[in-house]
Amino acid sequence: MKRDYYDVLGVQRDADLQQIKKAYRKLAREHHPDVNQHDLECEEKFKEATEAYEVLCDPDKRRLYDAYGHDGLRGGAGGAGGYGFDGFPGVSDLFENLFGSFGGGPYGSGGPFAAAQPTGPARGDDLAIEVELTLEEAAFGVEKEISFRAQATCPDCEGAGTTDPSSVETCTECHGAGRVRTVRRTMLGQFIQTGPCPMCSGQGIVVKSPCKECRGTGRVVAERKLSVQIPAGVDAGQRIRVSGRGGAGERGARGGDLYVRVRVEPHELFERRGNDILYDVRLTMVQAALGATLTIPTLDGETEVEFPPGTQPGEIKVLRGKGVPHLNGHGRGDQEILVNVLIPHDLDEQHRQILRDFDDAVSAEQYDAKPEGVLNKLRNLFNG
Ligand SMILES: [Zn+2]
Ligand SMILES: [Zn+2]
Repeated sequence: MKRDYYDVLGVQRDADLQQIKKAYRKLAREHHPDVNQHDLECEEKFKEATEAYEVLCDPDKRRLYDAYGHDGLRGGAGGAGGYGFDGFPGVSDLFENLFGSFGGGPYGSGGPFAAAQPTGPARGDDLAIEVELTLEEAAFGVEKEISFRAQATCPDCEGAGTTDPSSVETCTECHGAGRVRTVRRTMLGQFIQTGPCPMCSGQGIVVKSPCKECRGTGRVVAERKLSVQIPAGVDAGQRIRVSGRGGAGERGARGGDLYVRVRVEPHELFERRGNDILYDVRLTMVQAALGATLTIPTLDGETEVEFPPGTQPGEIKVLRGKGVPHLNGHGRGDQEILVNVLIPHDLDEQHRQILRDFDDAVSAEQYDAKPEGVLNKLRNLFNG
């Protein structure tokens, strides 16, 4: 018997989204398979909690579950409640980032409902899509409209596989189970085999008048549009899993997952390293020697930055908290400003004379760079 989802998460039936999320995170941390390696009980608990969470934090699925229990969520054979919903909207999207990839793991192919419908209509395909972001979009998050061609819920029958619900009948051969037992007598004795029902192809139901548009599958290939919430702090190469938004499943079965891989366009001013932003500033020789206040671009707009007299090439000025927000929502990286000093060229005689006079007046110690040379600074910057 499947346990009640509210019991699994240990929340009240009227729990709000925050309470459900909190309960799930706590359980997920306790039972996550990466933490409890080879502990099958933990793995089961983790799957159970994830399944409960995916249902309870989605208003549509929660309504179905409240009304029909576990049967309401079963595609196909599970009764009227199981028809017609378009997969699972982005529920466990961010958990890939929190816990590392689930791909191929205990939670991998098939999804949490694979076990609940061993013989029902086929689940949708997983899909991968690339999305290109600016550095700012990746830093602060953005809602991206993406379009792609994939299996979609049939518009004519809304995924039910027929426009006439009364033509859906429980298979008389297997009585809805989708599997049949055959008894084979041999010289060695009697063998009982269980296999997919040949009459309904293991689906438990027979559709007498299938939808013409989708030939009863409940899905058609179509141009799909989807709005994806990109979380603040994502970086190039990361994937965002949008649960259930891949290819539509057959006749209301769970959709596949959509994996949105992030690409980031090069920025004309900034370079990103982890959560830090690198920026080169150029001071003239005179600004570096006398000190200057310059307007510096940051991810948040321009800001005034003071460079003290005697600023050296290779010095790094750090603007705390001006980098990319951390993906977990806590804090931000820094902006590091690398100082470059410009030496004038094409000097005329008057300029040269001023510099010669200056050189006569200044002593060698005044050129002592404060702590360390440019090379050390650079080494620290790129190895630190
Ligand atoms: Zn159809
Ligand atoms: Zn059957």
